[in-house]
Amino acid sequence: MTKKQLALEIIERLKQEYPMADCTLDYDEAWKLLVSVRLAAQCTDARVNVVVEGLYEKYPTVEALAQADVEDIERIVKPCGLGHSKARDISACMKTLLEQYGGKVPDDFDALLKLPGVGRKSANLIMGDVFGKPAIVTDTHCIRLVNRMGLVDDIKEPKKVEMALWKIIPPEEGNDFCHRLVNHGREVCTARTRPYCDRCCLNDICKKKGIEQ
Ligand code: SF4
Repeated sequence: MTKKQLALEIIERLKQEYPMADCTLDYDEAWKLLVSVRLAAQCTDARVNVVVEGLYEKYPTVEALAQADVEDIERIVKPCGLGHSKARDISACMKTLLEQYGGKVPDDFDALLKLPGVGRKSANLIMGDVFGKPAIVTDTHCIRLVNRMGLVDDIKEPKKVEMALWKIIPPEEGNDFCHRLVNHGREVCTARTRPYCDRCCLNDICKKKGIEQ
């Protein structure tokens, strides 16, 4: 089986296993996903979803957050960890949105990448989830799973994994596929325990079936 064929088979099986492929960060406006994805670095999505409630209660718009005292943002987002740098990135990002894009999130990958605190992973997430465009989000689950499955060969650097996946994943499938990898990585192909290969829907085609962890 070629890597492309393997990818298509895995995509189909994960669709069956996880019919809903959603982002687990809560948001109802594009700028809020930008904030949440920055807060989610080294923090769980569940905690981010709680913390942003307090943040948006006090600062409900891009304008309000752009004008907020950065020390106050830091105080509110501190439970997510790395509060100092996250608060400064969020403040600078909201200011840029306001000053350069009229408070709207740009639907252009390169423009997103230039926003403070936004890297390829975040820019891809916004492109896919907010704008419905082709996207591949190489988070920790994606990188671990595609290596184990044999879709990439011992590549750990996020951008290199992304580029390798673009070659074998149909562009329109990328975003949902990555969400499903998160589901599968949390529930079956886990990081901190030995993966549950015995109950994995991919165990007859996965390269690393039965690996010791
Ligand atoms: S067979 Fe095992 S290693 Fe492969 S994807 Fe499933 S749980 Fe992960």
